[in-house]
Amino acid sequence: MQKKIIRFEPPERLKQLPPYLFAEIDRKKRELIAKGRDVIDLGVGDPDLPTPDFIVEALSEAAKDPKNHRYALDTGMPVFRESIADFFQKRFRARLDPAEEILPLIGSKEGIAHLPLAILNSGDVALIPDPGYPPYRSGTLFAGGVPYFMPLLESNDFLPDLGAIPSDILKKAKLIYMNYPNNPTSAVASKAFFEDVIDFAYEHQLLVAQDAAYCEVGYEGYEAPSILEIEGAKEIAVEFHSLSKTFNMTGWRVGFAAGNTEALALLAKVKSNVDSGIFQAIQWAAKKALDEGERAHQALLKIYQKRRDTLVQGFRNIGWNFAPPPATFYCWIPVPPGYTSAELALQFLEQMSIVVTPGNGFGPHGEGYFRISLTISETRLEEAVGRIAKSHTHPHKK
Ligand SMILES: *Cc1c(COP(=O)(O)O)cnc(C)c1O
Repeated sequence: MQKKIIRFEPPERLKQLPPYLFAEIDRKKRELIAKGRDVIDLGVGDPDLPTPDFIVEALSEAAKDPKNHRYALDTGMPVFRESIADFFQKRFRARLDPAEEILPLIGSKEGIAHLPLAILNSGDVALIPDPGYPPYRSGTLFAGGVPYFMPLLESNDFLPDLGAIPSDILKKAKLIYMNYPNNPTSAVASKAFFEDVIDFAYEHQLLVAQDAAYCEVGYEGYEAPSILEIEGAKEIAVEFHSLSKTFNMTGWRVGFAAGNTEALALLAKVKSNVDSGIFQAIQWAAKKALDEGERAHQALLKIYQKRRDTLVQGFRNIGWNFAPPPATFYCWIPVPPGYTSAELALQFLEQMSIVVTPGNGFGPHGEGYFRISLTISETRLEEAVGRIAKSHTHPHKK
């Protein structure tokens, strides 16, 4: 029989995704590395330091136990859920029922991206920050939902202006994503703002999905609030947490959601049809990190804070001023006049062999900014500032 080749055209849901904006930079970066250039990558949002030893050892021990080799419970080990509940109690004074108000995840991205499948009917609107983490949009599109983008403007401290969302949009909205401390802007939200969000959600009958991936990355003693500290929040909100950034565990794939029981049960139902739980050895190690990780966490914060101060001071010394981020490991820096974000990123790469992330890659309102990640050594940050000082691309040389 004649075997006719099938052409796999992307289905509509994939065609709706925006083009990958960093493709050009990735290509150029590889090209320069191949040419032997010493490229400094300030683009990646992935901790450079290893997972603390005591966590790796907990994994290694648990991996030897055959009880952990079988399918895990879809909704996570009860002992892990109890550790998570203790974390909320200790850190935020928020009381959560480990059985019903907590759901372990295969990394928080997994839950963030699956949530719309659990909450939206096709045509329902999800309110999404712009600039923002891409899965809010892609998860919504995969579920047949309609994204409505809320601009995060510097003039409003990179908080969405809830009053500016049109009422016809609000009538169709079921879900609102929040992300504080924020990637990419590094902005933080106060408890008062979260109170407004919760009031707004009750008024318009929305589920709030607050992405707290950077909740534990704050400087000079800053400790971000949880939205679940707000009275009435757990009846209308879920919050996503991650061990990735707190304990250098991005590759491990473990996080958790907490809050509204029904929303979590619906999310668990979606998940039980697509995954079969988190490797139990990883859950034991994650429990160890939550129970005993405070010292390692504090040591990591010191390192990021030193890097942050080195970078901010280095830029200041060459006449380029921006406010130090209060949280996250990102600096969100305005692009000097005369460049678009993409032009600036390309110039940094071509002239200085430095990778930065152009803000427009996070959404149209990211235009006019670029992001530098502190997941690289102080020496390399200093080297980067040195290269910028010698170049023509800074605001007082144009
Ligand atoms: C890194 C990150 C996450 C998720 O990380 P996981 O490794 O999937 O837990 C979620 N939200 C934002 C904004 C992030 O930057």
